[in-house]
Amino acid sequence: FDQDLPRREANHVALSPISFLQRSAAIYPESTAVIHGRHYSYREFAERCRRLASALRKRGLGQGDTVAVMAPNVPALLEAHYGVPMFGGVLNALNIRLDPATIAFILQHGEAKALIVDREFSPVIQAALADLDRKPLVIDYDDAMTEAQGGTRGPLIGELEYEALLAEGDPDFAWQPPADEWQALALNYTSGTTGDPKGVVYHHRGAFLNAVGNAMVLGIDRRAAYLWTLPMFHCNGWTYTWAVTAMSGTHVCLRKVDPALIYPLIEEAGVTHLCGAPIVLNLLAHSPADVRRPLPRRVRVGTGGAAPPSAVISRLEQQGFEVLHLYGLTECYGPSTLCAWQDDWSNLPLEERAVKMARQGVAYPTLQEASVRDPETLEAVPADGETVGELMLRGNTLMKGYLKNPEATRKAFAGGWFRTGDLGVVHPDGYVEIKDRSKDIIISGGENISSLEVEEVLYRHPKVMEAAVVARPDPKWGESPCAFVTLQQGEEATAEEILAWCRDHLARFKLPKTVVFGALPKTSTGKIQKFVLREQAKEQK
Ligand code: ADP
Repeated sequence: FDQDLPRREANHVALSPISFLQRSAAIYPESTAVIHGRHYSYREFAERCRRLASALRKRGLGQGDTVAVMAPNVPALLEAHYGVPMFGGVLNALNIRLDPATIAFILQHGEAKALIVDREFSPVIQAALADLDRKPLVIDYDDAMTEAQGGTRGPLIGELEYEALLAEGDPDFAWQPPADEWQALALNYTSGTTGDPKGVVYHHRGAFLNAVGNAMVLGIDRRAAYLWTLPMFHCNGWTYTWAVTAMSGTHVCLRKVDPALIYPLIEEAGVTHLCGAPIVLNLLAHSPADVRRPLPRRVRVGTGGAAPPSAVISRLEQQGFEVLHLYGLTECYGPSTLCAWQDDWSNLPLEERAVKMARQGVAYPTLQEASVRDPETLEAVPADGETVGELMLRGNTLMKGYLKNPEATRKAFAGGWFRTGDLGVVHPDGYVEIKDRSKDIIISGGENISSLEVEEVLYRHPKVMEAAVVARPDPKWGESPCAFVTLQQGEEATAEEILAWCRDHLARFKLPKTVVFGALPKTSTGKIQKFVLREQAKEQK
């Protein structure tokens, strides 16, 4: 077969998620592509993206140049996901919660040639730019929805405004697929809790495939209205920026994650899907009764980025949301495993079902393999639900590598697997369950304690809203678990009450020795900052 029928050009076109926009705009030009105060049709959305590409090229940007964007989930950031790679550029969506020094580091390291800034963030960008030797072309984005969605407008600091830039561009700009599908598409910096952030580089091929996987697992179709509760700067919105367009669905933009904005939008924009870290789910689960509204239809929610406690899943399911648990990292374009649903789970009581769903599950259909292995020998661990190993990934949806960091890139792929740094087990049904990040595991008297397992128990306490467990130095045991707990509004509890609950649900050696009440520090992507808590734990008597 192969000798007679060799590979031919017509059969091998570079995969690129930009093709999704070309296609949807050609087939459904009048369908709504984006909702943000007003509706943008697919025709208009595509034209705006082409104008952006053409205008940036006219201003001297070319193949491989970085364009940074500092904005919440607004149309300009979505348009940059197409307009930037269309001219061969690389999109660097900045985390809007970062401080000026970190932003300056990223702009310098990523060599941004242009920077689009939503006015809400012009003060922080101004401070970051003061530290830069080579300044990018700065473009202001002035969003008419700013105040309506809880924002404020800072000063105009750029050379021109975004709409004026678009006016310079050609709406018929011709896009060609990249010559090579391994070409860089996007640059995403990891949060860098230990040292400088690392720049993860995405290729067109990986983004195309992961977007297809995301559309498949969440069931996105042409009727889907996807609400942007997940930041687009987080792994390019887990590639839903491209996945929704692939299926000609509607993007519903949202500047701020606030239940008082979310429930009305679900109703008015006909929202069918949304994604968010477990804290977003928790925010919905505990939203005040006067802002909560009954769901007019089934809304599917993809959650990940941190382990969702089963109690949070069941609270949300009770509100009528359908929760799908996803797991991934920046290095693999966001979600790469899902807790695939088994029919017989439907017969389980809600809580048992939620425990099954809280596992990280199995590889995406677009990822070749997600397996738990011994980090030294690379042997797969037995599927006994007990033997702990490191979760490793292999497939077409892994990063090109870290920008200007060959050493870290080599380590990440050592032995031919992408090393996630997450420790987990495999259950007899083949589903993976993460026990901890390697740096979060607690080692007490030589025994490993999974912080997630202790948190899972705390979250089930009826008065608890959020919980995190970290290691605290212990003269006798080496380390002991220290629990930080936020109670639900209006509730009161003593440490003894929480400990009594733990005693009923946990093995003795896993019991927290200390319980601290108060708010939990979080990152902008909704993860509890355990390194901060570890410091606080050291100070506990
Ligand atoms: P950062 O490393 O900056 O926090 P990432 O988004 O890349 O940014 O974080 C990936 C990590 O988040 C994973 O390695 C894992 O520890 C954690 N994580 C993501 N999704 C889940 C999940 N569903 N369950 C448990 N942990 C998760």
